[in-house]
Amino acid sequence: MQALLQLVPVLVFRALVDELTRRHPHFGGVAGLLGLGLLVLIAGGLVGVAANYLATVISENIVFDLRQQLFGHLLGQSMGYFTRRRSGDILSNLVNDVDGIEVVLTQSLLNFIRSGCLLVGMVALMFALDWRLAVLALLIVPVVVIPLRLASRKMYGTRMLVQEQLTDVTAYLQETLGLSGVMLVKAFARQELERERFARLNSDLRARQVRAAMTARWFGMFLTILQAAGPMLLLLIGGLLLTHGSAGLGTVLAFSTVIVGQLGGSVQGLGSAALATAGSLAIWQRLFDVLDDHPDLSEHDDAVALPEVRGAISFDDVTFSYPGAAHPALDNAKVKIEAGQLVALVGPSGAGKTTFSALAARFIDPQRGKVMLDGHDLRAITLDSLHRSIGIVFQDPYLFHTTLRDNLRYGRPEAADDDIWEAVRDANLEEFVSALPHGLDTIVGERGHRLSGGEKQRVAIARVLLKDPRVLLLDEATAHLDNVSERLIQAALQRLFAARTSIVIAHRLSTVVSADVILVLDRGVIRERGRHEDLLVKNGLYRRLHDSQFAADRAGTAA
Ligand code: ADP
Repeated sequence: MQALLQLVPVLVFRALVDELTRRHPHFGGVAGLLGLGLLVLIAGGLVGVAANYLATVISENIVFDLRQQLFGHLLGQSMGYFTRRRSGDILSNLVNDVDGIEVVLTQSLLNFIRSGCLLVGMVALMFALDWRLAVLALLIVPVVVIPLRLASRKMYGTRMLVQEQLTDVTAYLQETLGLSGVMLVKAFARQELERERFARLNSDLRARQVRAAMTARWFGMFLTILQAAGPMLLLLIGGLLLTHGSAGLGTVLAFSTVIVGQLGGSVQGLGSAALATAGSLAIWQRLFDVLDDHPDLSEHDDAVALPEVRGAISFDDVTFSYPGAAHPALDNAKVKIEAGQLVALVGPSGAGKTTFSALAARFIDPQRGKVMLDGHDLRAITLDSLHRSIGIVFQDPYLFHTTLRDNLRYGRPEAADDDIWEAVRDANLEEFVSALPHGLDTIVGERGHRLSGGEKQRVAIARVLLKDPRVLLLDEATAHLDNVSERLIQAALQRLFAARTSIVIAHRLSTVVSADVILVLDRGVIRERGRHEDLLVKNGLYRRLHDSQFAADRAGTAA
């Protein structure tokens, strides 16, 4: 529509010239023509706004879907995926790449449609006016199209380089400017080094951006020259036809000014839209690579949802190796855990304790053997029902930047305040929460109210108490707390262990003493198993670990 309106000025212009070059120009006619031209301009502008609105809505919808899909896809990936990829890389996909697509879509989509329509209309009009001049004008087009293909290929390459560098910069910034990163830099007084490192990344980005921009610019210049040279050629031939009396002045002038301008404009519009699109193909490629990376922890097609979980867990000859590792992190583990038991995992660092609990949570799948919950292979249970029945307390609990209430009911969003308070009391947090400036509404997490290590652990315990899962996986904090915090946590933990199957990477004497089974791991192998007293008597690995690891606890309890 807008393109069609752009055809009208050509006719108006031609009529105007013809009118003015008549022996007795009619003023009313001239004014009428000019008025018509103005009206068409206004109409064109209005249609332009409407078309822009439509194109923006369409492209923003595409971008919205893309972001949603990427986010959902990434959330579905396994833990392994996130250890393999830098978190900055992932962020860059969602921010830089999607942004890149957004720019191209909003700018090019409309450009394509408008320029395409204009081109078609213009060609038809040209032939209607004078076929000889039309053929001549069209001869210029291939001269533009051929280099366009070359330029497109070049754009794809330069754009890919820019996106890759943007990824590196984002990942670097995320690593360095995170709280832990900054602390490390300051602690080692490495600001100068980091500044230089960033300067290298940054200047590389600058160079690549300049190159990408210049590739587009050179091509733009080429088109501009053609735009100027075209009219000259048309005027030359048109003049020839004019002197032979086989074309009117209005037609010739219309061709060499308005038509060539519009034609050039539409070809340039198409050209730059094609260039931008070629550049964006590089970005699409990156995003499709992400989407094509299928989660390695998908559920079986016939996976069942477990309505009622008792919490019996068994490891049937389970072996797991990390990619590229020389030895399995867990080798041929055979374990039967009854529902409701407390299992303590102990062993030197690197023994495979974390791997054991990651297998139980199905953060990873074993290469051999089966991990079973209530007699079902974990792979045959829907991920949703599996994770509903499992609660996890990490060694360094993570809190989102939001209210304490929202953090607590993360595992049970519909929990009422009464339930929340009950969990808070059971986790020995009541006194602490009551003393907070806004109670449960206090913002905690990254930039919120700072919690001490012991408080954070108790919040994490309350969070799991509220979720009330059948199976608990707990990585006890290694840091020794003051006696008061320690006792508060111990009491909270006893309540946590009471009603469910618990697998605990144990660092506390109180935990191992009350465990139903202690599994002693060493280099991926379960060396000893049994209760605390029996294992002590055995005088083996457990005894040695016990004497070195838990001596401090005993001193603490005695104090
Ligand atoms: P623990 O929790 O007892 O300290 P882990 O289960 O974390 O032990 O580790 C067992 C072994 O697997 C160690 O040798 C460790 O280096 C290795 N490992 C752990 N995580 C990874 C990983 N993501 N990639 C490769 N190797 C790993």
